[in-house]
Amino acid sequence: MGLYRQKFIKLFVFTLFVILLSCSDSEGINENENSDNTIVGKLGQLSIQNTKLADKNGNPIALRGMSLFWSQWAPNYYNTETIQWLRDDWKCTVIRAAMGVESGGYLENSDLEYYRVKAAVDACIELGIYVIIDWHDHHGEDHLESAKVFFNKISAEYGNYPNIIYEIYNEPLDVSWKEVIKPYAEEIITTIRKNDPNNLIIVGTPNWSQDVNDVLNNTIDDDNVAYSLHFYTGTHREWLRTKAAQAIAGGILLFVSEWGLSEASGNGNIDITETNLWTDFMEGNNLSWCNWSITNKDEISAILLPSTTSLSGWKENELSEAGKIIRDYLIKMNNDLFDQ
Ligand code: CA
Repeated sequence: MGLYRQKFIKLFVFTLFVILLSCSDSEGINENENSDNTIVGKLGQLSIQNTKLADKNGNPIALRGMSLFWSQWAPNYYNTETIQWLRDDWKCTVIRAAMGVESGGYLENSDLEYYRVKAAVDACIELGIYVIIDWHDHHGEDHLESAKVFFNKISAEYGNYPNIIYEIYNEPLDVSWKEVIKPYAEEIITTIRKNDPNNLIIVGTPNWSQDVNDVLNNTIDDDNVAYSLHFYTGTHREWLRTKAAQAIAGGILLFVSEWGLSEASGNGNIDITETNLWTDFMEGNNLSWCNWSITNKDEISAILLPSTTSLSGWKENELSEAGKIIRDYLIKMNNDLFDQ
């Protein structure tokens, strides 16, 4: 009798366990269905199709968002609160985490800088937007081994998430594409591809990511590599658009991972006419972009006034001139995608 009762209790507990499991299973499915309404839920795994950036269904898309400032100098914005505001109020579909490498960055404080990037990446995953993991360096070829360690670790941790975009070299200086940048890029890409076979990788180009036409006839052998084009509308004008147009005509996918409404120094005046020419160029060519940058530093390209110290909830009178312009433009361009 005792044995029978024991068996019965065991069966009862087992049945309860199965019921609980199936309940939590269906809850899990519901959660996934809800999260499909995020930007990454809608667009999914990115890839390059017919020289354009494409969503999971192969349709051409453009991501538009903001770059954070150097992580070692503006780490307070590398958090969910700020990024959620940039998604909900500014309508960013992508955030760039600009991890400083030199000048007190990753080379000196690798654990701390990794942690800051991780905080931004985790926030973007949670919020369902894309995130660029940017090796924000001007001397990548001197830091090859450190870059390999970093990209191996972060691609092993996040390579399964469609949210992730790797930018492996922000702005090379005046060095050769063929002799310096391409060999560096191929080593880093091989490292990443062991962990992540398919996510988009952005490669810097010579001269602060301007000489995009140097890549023509000498591209990297990988299906999902884009090349970065950077510009500041107060300095870089028609001559740079001509170079970019040559690269695009040659079948190269450009990604504007950094552009600003100032001169190249970060200061100077905002040139509205030139800014409009650039935004027309990007839209005409369906280019993705991140604007520089989220900071309250006293410079023209900074989107916050120096007196603005809050991490989110910025009112109109707390934004710089550049901040007001770029917020309006982001909302205009991205709003439909959020509403779909
Ligand atoms: Ca992947």
